[in-house]
Amino acid sequence: MQLKDKVAVITGSAAGIGRRAAVRFAAEGARVVVSDLDDAAGAETVQQIRSSGHEAAYCHSDVTQVCDLERLMTFAADTYGGVDIFWHNAGTSSASVTSSPSGYHPGITEADWDQQMNVHLKAGFFGARLAVDKMLERGGGAILFTSSAAALKPPVGTAPTYPIAKHGLILLTKMMAVDLAKHNIRVNAICPASIRTAMIEGLLADESTKGIVDGLVKQMPMGRILEMDEVADCATFLVSEQASAITGTVLPIDGGRTSL
Ligand code: NAD
Repeated sequence: MQLKDKVAVITGSAAGIGRRAAVRFAAEGARVVVSDLDDAAGAETVQQIRSSGHEAAYCHSDVTQVCDLERLMTFAADTYGGVDIFWHNAGTSSASVTSSPSGYHPGITEADWDQQMNVHLKAGFFGARLAVDKMLERGGGAILFTSSAAALKPPVGTAPTYPIAKHGLILLTKMMAVDLAKHNIRVNAICPASIRTAMIEGLLADESTKGIVDGLVKQMPMGRILEMDEVADCATFLVSEQASAITGTVLPIDGGRTSL
């Protein structure tokens, strides 16, 4: 029980990595606040957790809205008495489809730029700041950001908005880690690559798109798609007391891709 009695708030936990980790955190003893835009899927995450005899509650929150993030922290405090762990995991890929990783690409719209910066970076900054207010009341805590291997090494063909926003989270991790160490609050980031979520499963299921996944696998020295449980394992460790000496760390979970 690595997270016994901790209160964990996870954004984007109605699906994919966030859902898998929410189930895992709860199994490790945390009381989990599941949060997302998708209320039906969020309720399903809560149902999965409760049906295993663990504790969770759902709070709708659009992370691009600071007022929603405020409501989320208040919900956690009202429901479970505070916040010990905040993981900003919500994210979405860029709407712009580009053929070059150039930062000067004309296909990037203002709306796309704003959306990527808001859902990843603005939400990370304000979400963490609001979580810190609650953590200070409890004498410490752990913050985790989901960045991306694309922030460390943008793949050719990716619109620059996503890697830039995710790279911002890496700087935020380091700056917050230094500022908050004296308050017993640790701040770390993970950088996943090619995780088997619904999107990858969908590509694999269709002969016409299977080649896209093969291309991803070729970029991984380990030569395979990575599993959501492998991300949940790392996240659980980083927010647990087992990682009590670790802050400001940016951990690639990428099968070696960014070492190429
Ligand atoms: P996913 O689409 O399965 O889950 C993302 C969740 O975030 C969804 O439930 C979605 O509704 C939610 N979300 C999106 N916008 C939101 C908003 N404005 N407010 C609240 N919730 C919002 O994706 P995933 O693959 O599980 O990705 C999780 C995180 O991991 C993302 O930050 C993503 O960028 C990052 N990531 C994923 C991979 C991968 O291979 N899957 C690789 C690198 C990074």
